[in-house]
Amino acid sequence: MSTIADQTAVEEGLPADAGPQGAGATAFAPRRSLLGLSRARLQELLGEIGVPERQRRMRAAQLWRWIYGRGQTDFAAMSNIAKELRAVIAERHALARPEIVTEQISSDGTRKWLLRLTPFVAGEPAPEIETVYIPEADRGTLCISSQVGCTLTCTFCHTGTQRLVRNLTAGEIVGQILLARDRIGDWPGAPAPGDGTGLPEAERKITNIVLMGMGEPLYNFDNVREAMEITSDGEGLSVSKRRITLSTSGVVPMIGRAGREMGVMLAISLHAVRDDLRDVLVPINRKYPIAALLDACRAYPGLSNAKRITFEYVMLKGVNDSIAEAKELVRLLAGIPAKINLIPFNPWPGAPYECSDWERIESFAEVVNRAGYASPIRTPRGRDIMAACGQLRSASEKVKASLRRAGVPLPANAAGPIT
Ligand code: SAH
Ligand code: SF4
Repeated sequence: MSTIADQTAVEEGLPADAGPQGAGATAFAPRRSLLGLSRARLQELLGEIGVPERQRRMRAAQLWRWIYGRGQTDFAAMSNIAKELRAVIAERHALARPEIVTEQISSDGTRKWLLRLTPFVAGEPAPEIETVYIPEADRGTLCISSQVGCTLTCTFCHTGTQRLVRNLTAGEIVGQILLARDRIGDWPGAPAPGDGTGLPEAERKITNIVLMGMGEPLYNFDNVREAMEITSDGEGLSVSKRRITLSTSGVVPMIGRAGREMGVMLAISLHAVRDDLRDVLVPINRKYPIAALLDACRAYPGLSNAKRITFEYVMLKGVNDSIAEAKELVRLLAGIPAKINLIPFNPWPGAPYECSDWERIESFAEVVNRAGYASPIRTPRGRDIMAACGQLRSASEKVKASLRRAGVPLPANAAGPIT
């Protein structure tokens, strides 16, 4: 049974603001978030509020370091920026994180946040996403979402059963990283959190970022690219591109661009070695079959033994886990600098699959290992808080649905309790 170590509803306290339409035109015009804006856009924005051109680059650099280097959310505390300018910026702008609906901390230190975003249209239901933090002894991996839901319909993935609500903005993508750093005290000089269960020994607690949460990142290319620029910027969030991994179900035409324009590490959700099976498990395969996908991988810019592609393979009992398939996997990947990640299937209510038996996973891994791949079996983490793709949100939706059935009136964006 999962426990909620801390359940926080962060009210950002955005005051009602007359907005550009004038008083009365709208009851609520939130301050504009600066998160996710490029340096160039920040400079433009400073120009719009009257900062002389010769100062803009310097001022934007100062803001940038406060926002991404220090995690400062209060403009008033940005001591090297002129006081009057701080006030002018604060009047119309904010550095708000996504709102935390629930925070769960597993007994193994895995943390999972259900986050609520601001709807694009006032009054519409607020979309929810999830972000997961997985600490290990020497590293900490943050798994972030790129879309609310997913348009693809992989049959073993719970996100695939949820309709796409929308793409995340670049600000919402980096917002997940900022929020996680806030919550685990991962800013220079920040105090360690009281519940430091299982955090890595290393000075920095988030060392790796994986785009493996909700959504298909290559279907939200521009926003993901902008967010990863900030994430890898040495004066920004400073996570090296070698430590950022983008996972795709196989959007073949975008793979080369991802390598050229983002230069991050690539992971491919392969999951099957034959087209007929992959068509069912990862239906985008009907459009971009295995051969085309592997061609795109071979051509991935910067690919080398030091910069390998990770192939993810979810272990589904009796479906894709035969020893013959393990051998075929090795044959298919021959010649591609690759790592293979065998992922025990994480079941969800109503899922049409089961996880392979442990002995089978081990014998499958042995074939892969003998072929020269160090293929760690990704140990399930955060099982007690259901830290797999799509699960927390589904629990919350389910509780909401049963509350509604029971005639409990819920406010439009209410989150259900999770027990
Ligand atoms: N849309 C992208 C990234 C998000 S999914 C993609 O598909 O690659 C991240 C990884 O989690 C993918 O490899 C996906 O196949 C895997 N995954 C999804 N649901 C899972 C489940 N129930 N159990 C184990 N792995 C799952
Ligand atoms: Fe979407 Fe990835 Fe889930 Fe497939 S596995 S439905 S692409 S999130």
